[in-house]
Amino acid sequence: MSIEKIFENRVLKLNKKEENTKGKYVLYCMEASQRQEFNHALEFSIYKANYYKKPVLVVFFITDKYKFSNQRYYRFIIEGLIKLKKDLKDRGINFLIIKDDYVNGCIKLSKEAYLVVLDKNYLKTQRLWRRKVADFVDVCVYEVESDVIFPIQFLFNKSIPYAFLYRDKVEKFFDYFLLEVKQFEPIIKNNDLNIYLDNVIDFNEVQEYLNILNIDKSISTVEKYYQGGSDIANKLLKEFIEKKLPFYKDNRSDPTLDYTSNLSPYLHFGQISPLKIVIEILKYYDKRDENVKSFFNELIVWRELARNYVYYNEFYNQYEGVILWARKSLEEHLVDKREYLYTLEELEQGKTHDEYWNAAQQELLITGKMHNYMRMYWAKKIIEWTEHPKQAFDIACYLNDKYLLDGRDPNGYAGISWCFGNFDRPFKERKIFGKIRYMSYKNLTERFDVKRYLSRFLKL
Ligand SMILES: Cc1cc2nc3c(=O)[nH]c(=O)nc-3n(C[C@H](O)[C@H](O)[C@H](O)COP(=O)(O)OP(=O)(O)OC[C@H]3O[C@@H](n4cnc5c(N)ncnc54)[C@H](O)[C@@H]3O)c2cc1C
Repeated sequence: MSIEKIFENRVLKLNKKEENTKGKYVLYCMEASQRQEFNHALEFSIYKANYYKKPVLVVFFITDKYKFSNQRYYRFIIEGLIKLKKDLKDRGINFLIIKDDYVNGCIKLSKEAYLVVLDKNYLKTQRLWRRKVADFVDVCVYEVESDVIFPIQFLFNKSIPYAFLYRDKVEKFFDYFLLEVKQFEPIIKNNDLNIYLDNVIDFNEVQEYLNILNIDKSISTVEKYYQGGSDIANKLLKEFIEKKLPFYKDNRSDPTLDYTSNLSPYLHFGQISPLKIVIEILKYYDKRDENVKSFFNELIVWRELARNYVYYNEFYNQYEGVILWARKSLEEHLVDKREYLYTLEELEQGKTHDEYWNAAQQELLITGKMHNYMRMYWAKKIIEWTEHPKQAFDIACYLNDKYLLDGRDPNGYAGISWCFGNFDRPFKERKIFGKIRYMSYKNLTERFDVKRYLSRFLKL
């Protein structure tokens, strides 16, 4: 395998500027792929640095001004970063955590950089950050895509409305992109780069970082349930392959059981690579195995379709992004009487008449995660209990992004949009929901016992 093959279709030059031949280092501004293993952007940086005989400088900018900045998910990030610092040091790579915003920080450090490498992200805000960096710095900027198996723009140049279309294409290119990300050895190892910045933060305890960040500390941290870090992600993956995957297909939809991987927070922050997950699984199982097919359908088809969705739909996080037939149908039913109407506060506190919904909301509040099946029920019921689907959409996004460790992710916007009709077909018309798919309380109660569901996380 040629060295470049692993980077094929994953690297894009974002501007037309030249390398700075006086630059001291190759700068990798890490954001989406917070790991040292299976990280194409990191390996690309080392590859370039070796070519130009420079060291690599990896930087993570931490700002307290991001959406819903709160100690729940900041703790998870920092837990990961502290371990990453050691992993990178062991490989001889300079790593700094800097308190600054992404654009400012990249621009400042780019002044002494030979070239800049960014990892790819798909949401509007992060795309705008990268655009600004590419426009404002004086050196060339590369963007490297490492958090998908199939580079999004390579697979499609437009939005794909149905999962089956995505699945067909994925199957066609499946083997082509399944390449181990080999690690390059930096020629110039850890060295003192003489970077004196007053905003470098270098603590060993998570709490020390949290103390200096002006973030919302009213939301509980959830380290009892999910602790950040690639080491934990790898442990969960191992457990999943050994104990859960052989039973995944039949049990993944039962929220009283724990048969899913629980990897979504780690995938969200890039603490584990989806490519690594797939390659690991295929070391033990055949890709035609029913459980593997079912898991890959979630991890690859739905997860990457979500990235396609946010990449090509400007309104992905708004009700206006819901497909027209579904919006029209929902709005034809605005006049239908709602048996229950709840305010955001009542929903947020899990104070509805429905014990199953309240239990799902408790899972979100207490653990920072929610079972996939309950997420669907949860969002569908918000539609039923609010006056307008637009209000329901906004509430679902608000709660999802505020409390979930894996929130603020393409999966969240695609998942919520699915509950409103996107990627789905019309069903028999009914009250309030019109032609969009309905999920009933009766069906849920027949399927499982709410006390068992609650006990899964309350006993912890
Ligand atoms: C209303 C609603 C909101 C959601 N919000 C989010 C969110 O904010 N962040 C998030 O990561 N997922 C979200 N999902 C998708 C899904 O519920 C979670 O990814 C899943 O529950 C994570 O648990 P797991 O890692 O144990 O899943 P597993 O079953 O082990 O799946 C493995 C991985 O596949 C991906 N995946 C699984 N199901 C889906 C799906 N339906 N769509 C896209 N990718 C999927 C995830 O990355 C997941 O980690 C949402 C779904 C709905 C219906």
